[in-house]
Order: sequence, then C-alpha cells, then structure tokens
Amino acid sequence: MRYMPLLFIVLGCAVFAQDNFKIYYKDTPSGFKVLADNNEYAPVSAELNMKLTNLKSSNGNNKVYVIPAMTKEFELTNLTVVDRKKPLKFGFNTSYNFGDHNLSNYDKDYKYFLPFGKGETFWLTQGYNGNISHADEYALDFKMPIGTKIYAAREGVVTDIEESYSKRCTSPECAKQNNYITIYHDDGTFAEYTHIKKNGAEVNIGDRVEKGQFIGYSGDVGWATGPHLHFIVYQQKIKSMQTLKTRFLVDDGKRFIELQEKEQYTRNY
Ligand SMILES: [Zn+2]
Repeated sequence: MRYMPLLFIVLGCAVFAQDNFKIYYKDTPSGFKVLADNNEYAPVSAELNMKLTNLKSSNGNNKVYVIPAMTKEFELTNLTVVDRKKPLKFGFNTSYNFGDHNLSNYDKDYKYFLPFGKGETFWLTQGYNGNISHADEYALDFKMPIGTKIYAAREGVVTDIEESYSKRCTSPECAKQNNYITIYHDDGTFAEYTHIKKNGAEVNIGDRVEKGQFIGYSGDVGWATGPHLHFIVYQQKIKSMQTLKTRFLVDDGKRFIELQEKEQYTRNY
C-alpha cells in the first residue's frame, strides 16, 4: 500500500540556483523519509516546517538543518504513519540559504593577508561602519585602479561568482549589479571580494584557493563611487548575514592589526 501525501508545498528563499539544492521525500515501509541534496560547495542551512496529520516525525519539527557541501540523500527526518486505518496529510514549507545557520564560533585570530599583490600599497578609503556605504557593516574599501590583481586574503573554496555586469552607479539599488567572488573558509565564514571587473574572475566555482593566490581583477562595477575593492567576511544565516571584524598582516608581515579608514597599507610579505 502506498501513502500519497495530500499536500506538498516547497517555498524557497534561496539566493542561489534552485536546482543545486532540493528537499524531497521517499516512501519507506513505515511512511516517508525527508531528504536533502546539496550540490553547492558550501553547507546549506534549511528550516523545515511540516504540517503533519497522522504522521510522527522522528526528528521533531520546525527545525533548522545544516546539510554539508556536496551531499546527496542527507536524511532530515523519518515520518511514521501513526494509524494505518486513518487518512494522512503531509506538507511542508522550507527556507534555505548558503552557510551554517548555527555557527557559533569562528577563528577570531585568523591572520588575513591584504587582498592585493606583494609590494603594493593602497588606501583604505572606507572602513568599518563607514558613513558612505558601510552603515552597520564591517566592510573595507581598498581604493585601487580597475584591473588591479586581487589575491585571496584567506584559503577556502570558491562558492559563488558574479562577473557578468559592467556598469557602476552610485545608488544602493545598484548593489544588485555587483560583480563578486565568494570564498567559503574552513571555519564556516565566507569572504566576498566585490566590484570586480566584467569577466574579472580568474577562478571557478568549486576551486580550492590558497591564501595569497591570485583570484581575479578589481573593477568599478555595481554600487560604487569609483574603482575599489570592497571586502567583507561574514557569517550567513538563513535570512540574514552578519559581517565580522577581521585583522590583517601589514608591512613586512610582522604587524597584525585591524585596518583603519583613511590609512594606507602595504603588503611586503
Ligand atoms: Zn564598500
């Protein structure tokens, strides 16, 4: 005998390609199991809210699950039919996004490299909570000419790239047309290197990059007032992101500091 769910709703709010992540169910002898496939190079967090009639969930309800990167048939919960003589209903909605929603700890002492080449010096034109465009954001703007080589500040896996845009404008709306490279770090945080030039990424999604590796060219694309690299490190939750303070090696690599707005920094290491 097969049990057909009467209701099956999926409401995603994902920012990435939907076919890279899915939640689905399979029949089991005692009911159903709810599974997830994650074909992204970072974990995906999914909140699962089920409506169950005559079904019991082995793993509770209204929970957030973290599905590891590149994982198929990750089991979220088992649904067991309570009374086989009665009708049953099974429906759910889900929200999901990149990252570990439950991340509570990360490496606060990580020694970031300045994201440009050895021997180069650039001004930090806007720092944390800067009043041009960094309200409530721990973001850094390095002023640099279009086409400056960008180097990974930290090792990780490239999880997302946008490099198709070519225009810049000065209203926040234009942030939708930002080009960027996103790298997932081993401690569960992400870095975004923003405003790269059109087709300026020199890495691919899924690449493992090393600290100090050349990853692409800076630009002047999206929400910007001139050529620069916007750099953030953040923790991604299902419905929000939280930018994090970081510290960098500067000069010959012996000084390890939080960068300050309107100072210039040299990478000689
Ligand atoms: Zn910025």
